[in-house]
Amino acid sequence: MSYTAYLKEANFIAGAWVGADSGENIDVTNPATGEVIGTVPACGEAETRRAIDAAAGAFDGLADMPLLERVGLLWKLHDALMDNQKTLAELLTVEMGKPMAESMGEIGIGAQYVRWFAEEVRRAKGEMVPAPTNGRRFLVTKHPVGVVGMITPWNFPSSMLARKIAPALAVGCTVVAKPATATPYSGLAWGALCDEVGFPKGSVNVVTGSARKIGGAIMDDPRVRKVTFTGSTEVGKELIRQSADTVKKVSMELGGNAPFLVFNDADIDAAVAGCMVSKFRNSGQTCVCANRIYVQDGVYDEFVAKLKEKVEAMKVGDGRKDGVEQGPLIDMEAVEKVEEFVADAKAKGGEVVSGGGRHGNGLSFFEPTIVTEATQEMKFAKEEIFGPLAPIFRFTDEDDAIAWANDTDFGLASYAYTRDIGRIFKLNAKLQYGMIGINSGLITTVEAPFGGVKESGLGKEGGSQGLEDYLDVKYTAVDF
Ligand code: ADP
Repeated sequence: MSYTAYLKEANFIAGAWVGADSGENIDVTNPATGEVIGTVPACGEAETRRAIDAAAGAFDGLADMPLLERVGLLWKLHDALMDNQKTLAELLTVEMGKPMAESMGEIGIGAQYVRWFAEEVRRAKGEMVPAPTNGRRFLVTKHPVGVVGMITPWNFPSSMLARKIAPALAVGCTVVAKPATATPYSGLAWGALCDEVGFPKGSVNVVTGSARKIGGAIMDDPRVRKVTFTGSTEVGKELIRQSADTVKKVSMELGGNAPFLVFNDADIDAAVAGCMVSKFRNSGQTCVCANRIYVQDGVYDEFVAKLKEKVEAMKVGDGRKDGVEQGPLIDMEAVEKVEEFVADAKAKGGEVVSGGGRHGNGLSFFEPTIVTEATQEMKFAKEEIFGPLAPIFRFTDEDDAIAWANDTDFGLASYAYTRDIGRIFKLNAKLQYGMIGINSGLITTVEAPFGGVKESGLGKEGGSQGLEDYLDVKYTAVDF
């Protein structure tokens, strides 16, 4: 089936496919070809309010649906994702640029989130707390928070919604989702799939258009009880401020600045393989990508030589072509940002040993790049790169490496390669990060809580914690 089967050029509100009130549309471009693949409605406040009306109207029905019936709908949603995996993956690649293999993986993990939360919701248990006197019972029960607003980015246009929509629907929350403007179709596909499998009208609404207007309407409305956002720290902070007026629950998955530590005792081949996947997956455009690679001096040269070999063998191109491992960046602004990081590093003594500039394919393609002799004074030591640039720092002392790793406002993912068990526990204690990969460059999994500390966010996605974030706890005292 062609990807156009799920390319919906309309918004999904109250169970109907509709356009913007103004009739205006926004073009959506394939970054690998520069071609416009379609349009989506340019919606704003009025349409968002109607989506919230629909979600609020559908809430009681979904929350009161027998648990096993809701779980059954999630099973069907899982199957619909897997049955259409290739079609949905192609849609994702065409609007976003990542290689087909990565898109297939993204749809696959999205389906796994649906299955995980369908399983986990059956164990969303409450408690009976012992009372201090006779004749009393204290019940602690869990209830869906209500309508949930979801704002998601372009780098994982399908799976970022999976982690939010699946737990929300599992517990009976209804949804108003705003996907990123660059990649709206994978978000709209969630509306289509939820409708196909039989979720009641209004359960899932998807609105595209102005972030400020749609976001504003979601944040202003007291009926929206929770907002869950994945994106930049800057926008996340603004949403946290906006949430104060109606005291919404917030979940925030914000920026990262992941350190990747390689110690002298590491298995260097494994460290290089882990670095490739952590750094270059999605062209470096993930919030858990290695941003600063700290290598101990005893293995520095070996690590750089082996990484260089792998980086220079990478095939860059249109993600739909066979064997392509790196697609384009999302837009030219992203390219300019990576160029700035390279120029800044060069000016401060960094050495470009691979790549370093725009790729011969033109458009927003960028060469996989390695900069050695990176230092804490360079811009990427503080800022998220979000591109295929691997800066390699040198360290001698373990405590310096840990201190540098923590020297950032962010605290999302971190990685370390070592075979010393004592050091592993020290890293677990000392690294100020929500996630730590030891001898692993790929740690995202549905079973574990994904999320950051410090300015990387609030709340968790996945794991049992990822369900709790959609539940309110209620306490009832019964005297008898
Ligand atoms: P990125 O561009 O790196 O994904 P952003 O934080 O800019 O990060 O965008 C993430 C999502 O937040 C997108 O869907 C975007 O449209 C939306 N967004 C951007 N600015 C705002 C805002 N002021 N209010 C609400 N949503 C916003």
